[in-house]
Amino acid sequence: RARTGLWGVRVDGMSMNYALSKVRGRLLSRAPSAMIVTANALSFYRAKKDPLYREIADSAWLTLPDGAGLVWALKFLGVPVVERVAGIDFMHGLCRLAAVENWPIYLLGSKPEVVSAAAVELERLYPGLKVVGYRDGYFNDSEDQDILQSIRSSGAKLLFTALGVPKQEVWLNRNLPEMDGVVGVGVGGSFDVISG
Ligand code: UDP
Repeated sequence: RARTGLWGVRVDGMSMNYALSKVRGRLLSRAPSAMIVTANALSFYRAKKDPLYREIADSAWLTLPDGAGLVWALKFLGVPVVERVAGIDFMHGLCRLAAVENWPIYLLGSKPEVVSAAAVELERLYPGLKVVGYRDGYFNDSEDQDILQSIRSSGAKLLFTALGVPKQEVWLNRNLPEMDGVVGVGVGGSFDVISG
């Protein structure tokens, strides 16, 4: 898989199905917690100017190209990339897999009524899926320990953060090491889309 990148950020130019199989392998092997970034052209532009975001995106376990323009640009630059992996599609793919594999999921972010509606809708869409916890994305740093405790005791294996870029990646980068074998993905506005 491609590990070359753009503006100092590595891109994994793999298909969505391959990325899903990587997550499955990782969770089955009980590996340490890891982050997936779905990055669009704006994220890369941000990375160019924001060293912390660049470092996080570059060192994430997987950085997937979310955006048709980005995929076009990467191909133009000769970076091998199979297809666009949109954050929202990837989240649906992960939830479908989570329902089959019995991986509990946790949703963190968006407004309270949005995240609760997204939890209900995901369980409706994917019978067997367990949303073991959720919480809105309007909190301050002093609440991190509380949230961490809630995620840890929920037993979640997949954690979706919808706090906007780069907050969702910064939060995961800081807090994932305190979790036990969790795969975390920043999904931007996806809860808003799912909740309708
Ligand atoms: N959001 C949040 N906490 C914040 C800021 C944003 O939970 O402090 C949520 C917001 O409600 C929305 C999601 O993050 O559901 C994505 O926000 P936005 O569209 O602004 O970010 P982008 O996807 O453009 O990075």
